[in-house]
Amino acid sequence: MPSVQPLVEVEHLYKVFGDHPELALELLDQGYDKSAIFERTGLTVGVRDASFTIYAGEVFVIMGLSGSGKSTLLRLLNRLIEPTSGTVRIHGTDVTAMDAAALIALRRREMSMVFQSFALLPHLSVRENAEFGLDIAGEAKAARHERAQAALEQVGLAPYADIYPDELSGGMQQRVGLARALAVDPSLMLMDEAFSALDPLIRREMQDELLRLQRESTRTVVFISHDLDEALRIGHRIAIMEGGRILQVGTPGEILNDPADDYVRSFFRGVD
Ligand code: ADP
Ligand code: MG
Repeated sequence: MPSVQPLVEVEHLYKVFGDHPELALELLDQGYDKSAIFERTGLTVGVRDASFTIYAGEVFVIMGLSGSGKSTLLRLLNRLIEPTSGTVRIHGTDVTAMDAAALIALRRREMSMVFQSFALLPHLSVRENAEFGLDIAGEAKAARHERAQAALEQVGLAPYADIYPDELSGGMQQRVGLARALAVDPSLMLMDEAFSALDPLIRREMQDELLRLQRESTRTVVFISHDLDEALRIGHRIAIMEGGRILQVGTPGEILNDPADDYVRSFFRGVD
């Protein structure tokens, strides 16, 4: 179960892509929307005034159509993207104010990412891929080996440690991606459409796997999905995005029974 301990606290977070982003902030203030701002200035509003808290041990799903700002929001959490304004705190520390060295240390210690494209290195074996994040984190070789091995065992890949990614199916490749993320023992896993490229059956299997791993270690997961069933299945809470804004954050029950507006209602129509 998720706790009441805040892990990630986001306040009034904005990301505008393009030169002189402050222009877009002014126009937002004046009531212009994303498309009007783009027409007038060529600036793209990626994320607009996002405020929410993610609690330790929860699976927090970010949902929305393509282009709604999900990936931008996720990348703002570990500052792979610089915010235009607003704050992100992790364990109470303002990530947006950290210098580069502190930020890198925090990412190594606390976070890992899993990508839709798996992002495996083809010339490295399964084990070496699982070790990769640890390599970057500067772990000693023996410790790296041990932690990667443990992560591979967690996702059922131990027998495949010495083969290469292209010998594996898509589902298995994403297990390697998962093992690589788990090996660093992150408190926060950031997953961007991590299962979207997988076949429906394998995808379900991976969702179950993720939930099992998450429960066992009370890890916190931020999971982007554009798939309704997936969001409802794995999310403790779901944030619905549209046009860079978060329209609602709530449990699946809250969102289904008490949608914040017509957009959210129509998004979830037909789900029971
Ligand atoms: P999603 O992940 O929900 O599909 P994104 O976060 O990728 O959405 O994109 C949100 C908006 O920001 C889109 O309008 C997209 O075109 C824009 N965007 C994303 N990244 C960039 C970038 N690097 N430069 C300019 N615009 C971007
Ligand atoms: Mg995306």
